[in-house]
Amino acid sequence: MRYIDSHSHLADAVFDEDRGAVIERAAAAGAAAVVCIGASLADAARARDLASAYPLLRWTAGIHPQEAGSFDADSDIAALGALLDAGAVGIGECGLDFHYDNAPRLRQHEAFEAQLILAAERDLPVIVHTREAESDTAIMIDRAARDGVVGVLHCYTGSLALAERAIGYGWYVSFSGIITFKSWTDLALLRAIPDDRVLVESDAPYLAPVPWRGKRNEPALVVHTIERLAEVRDVAPELLAERCLENTERLFGFTTRP
Ligand SMILES: [Zn+2]
Repeated sequence: MRYIDSHSHLADAVFDEDRGAVIERAAAAGAAAVVCIGASLADAARARDLASAYPLLRWTAGIHPQEAGSFDADSDIAALGALLDAGAVGIGECGLDFHYDNAPRLRQHEAFEAQLILAAERDLPVIVHTREAESDTAIMIDRAARDGVVGVLHCYTGSLALAERAIGYGWYVSFSGIITFKSWTDLALLRAIPDDRVLVESDAPYLAPVPWRGKRNEPALVVHTIERLAEVRDVAPELLAERCLENTERLFGFTTRP
C-alpha cells in the first residue's frame, strides 16, 4: 500500500530517542510522504529542520488553538511568515478548541483569523483543528472561503453538516485512528466524504488506531485507519490509500512521484 500521512507531530519530543526508526518504519509500511505539523512557532522550526534532514517529510507552520494564549498579532504573524518562506506546504494547525479551552476564546479567534488571512495572502492551504466549536468554525471558514482559502478539517469528529459545508468550499476532511475505536459509530460520515476530498492521518503521537490504542502513535500505523475506512466505504484499501495520497498532494501542492 502506498499512502501519505497528512498530519503527524513528528517534531514532538516523544520521538527524540528514535525518530529515524519511526520514519523508516513509515517508509517500510508504504508512506510516500509524512506531513510534519508545526503547532507552534518553535515546533514549526523543528519541523522545518526535520524536513531538511529526512526527505520523506513535508512540513507546515502554524499556531494551535491551545498555543494561542500568548498570541501577538504583530510579532507572531511576522515570525510565522518568515517560517513559511522556508518552504512550508501549509498553515496550521490552527483553529478553535472549546473543549480544553486552554487559551481564552477571544485569543483563539484572533490567532485563527490572523492565520486564515495569512493563508489568503500567501495562497497556502490551512490545516484546521475544530473541537466543540462548530458554529464559530463555520463562520470563520465561510469568510476564509470567500477569500479563496482552501484547507482541511483534520482529525475530523464533527458533524456531517460542517463537513459538507467545508466540502462545498472545495475543502478536505481528514480521518485519524479515532475511526477505528469501538466508540466511533458515525459510519455515515465516513461514507459521505467524496473520494476526491478524503484524507487520512496519524495525528501521531496521539490517537493510535486499534489494535495499538493507548500506545504512542506513529505514521506507520495509518495503515490500520486506511483499512477501517476502506472497509466502511467498501473499497480496496490500496485504492483508498491512493485516492487519499492524490488528495493530499493536490491540497498541499507537492508530488511524491519521481
Ligand atoms: Zn494535530
